[in-house]
Amino acid sequence: MIPSQPDRRGYFGSYGGRYVPDTVFPALDELDRAYRAARRDPAFRRELGDLLRATVGRPTPLTRVLRFPAGTGKAGARPSGGTVRRRRGESRMYLKREDLCHTGAHKINNTVGQVLLARRMGKRRVIAETGAGQHGVATATACALFGLKCTVYMGSDDVKRQAMNVYRMRLLGAEVVPVESGTRTLKDAINEAMRDWVTRVRDTYYCIGSAVGPHPYPLMVRDFQSVIGLEAKRQILKEEGRLPDLLVACVGGGSNAMGLFHPFLDTDVAMVGVEAGGRGPQPGRHGATLCHGRPGILHGALSYLLQDAKGQVLPTHSVSAGLDYPGVGPEHACLKDSGRVRYTSVPDDAALEAFHRMSELEGILPALESSHALAYALRACRRSPGRVLIVNLSGRGDKDLDIAGGRI
Ligand SMILES: *Cc1c(COP(=O)(O)O)cnc(C)c1O
Repeated sequence: MIPSQPDRRGYFGSYGGRYVPDTVFPALDELDRAYRAARRDPAFRRELGDLLRATVGRPTPLTRVLRFPAGTGKAGARPSGGTVRRRRGESRMYLKREDLCHTGAHKINNTVGQVLLARRMGKRRVIAETGAGQHGVATATACALFGLKCTVYMGSDDVKRQAMNVYRMRLLGAEVVPVESGTRTLKDAINEAMRDWVTRVRDTYYCIGSAVGPHPYPLMVRDFQSVIGLEAKRQILKEEGRLPDLLVACVGGGSNAMGLFHPFLDTDVAMVGVEAGGRGPQPGRHGATLCHGRPGILHGALSYLLQDAKGQVLPTHSVSAGLDYPGVGPEHACLKDSGRVRYTSVPDDAALEAFHRMSELEGILPALESSHALAYALRACRRSPGRVLIVNLSGRGDKDLDIAGGRI
């Protein structure tokens, strides 16, 4: 039996919990109470639903792609003609189009939900931490919508590397605070955000960007992202008259994957989470936490973690910034151990190949994160044809053109 709700202390099986200083507990308790009340409140649910429709652009389409999974050629060797004839035993691949959300990825589903909750809790100020800047932009967007003050912590090296997203956040009215300590990246930004939250908890809401962190964040973020799977279920039943055989999603912290998977957990649909295989399985060359990590504590929760023999967090690498993270959400750790979801990895070069193939054959530029899921799905179609599958297209690739475009 797979627990679909964490226990009272916030554990999914053996993973999750709250590994934070004592001073943070009252803030997490307050958040837990507020979130439980909000999700029971029809007025909150109605307002969130309205926002998702009118502002985020939901429901996002479920798009059948014909050319991407067809044939065996690489991108460039197109199936001839504009149409692809249906052959018996061919795979039927659908994309859940989170790339068409406002701001171009699924992250906005979560930030709109959390910022609505922040307003309900009477908080006037929202803080966030961000690595590549995508979650910072999504948080700043939601705050602009509600007129809440937004402060985003970002490692100072990341501030330099991600100048465009820093500019976006500032345009949206957010304050971006460069963090100069430690390695000047995400880990240090997280510490700084936590410190801010403890000192100003009365008027401050801490918005976490994936299904990670101390309880109740993994539960709450998964719930806000579950709109993806709920829509996909309804849409595939309409298209195919049955549930799919397979769901595929990329896994960084794990929020887009949990969002797609969760509404299908009590069915017999197979699910695969795809991590960043980077440049290879050696330590420091990938971001495949569930494939190569072991249990440890990061970001306030117990989950799988990329760490060395002494428990030091290892550096990570991925061509996609959103998968370049040494931790993973605790619910995924539980789903891995139970065997309900299978986790694998796809290397940088295969993800880039899928990026080009999807662009050329379907006219859709996928995010490099999502391209990992696409690369796996393509392989799955070739290995066992004749199945119906849904791939979560978590975001659009415009943000990745400097990386992906440079290889043409
Ligand atoms: C941030 C991001 C991811 C990874 O985050 P998850 O929490 O694992 O979903 C994946 N795809 C895109 C487009 C992203 O921006």
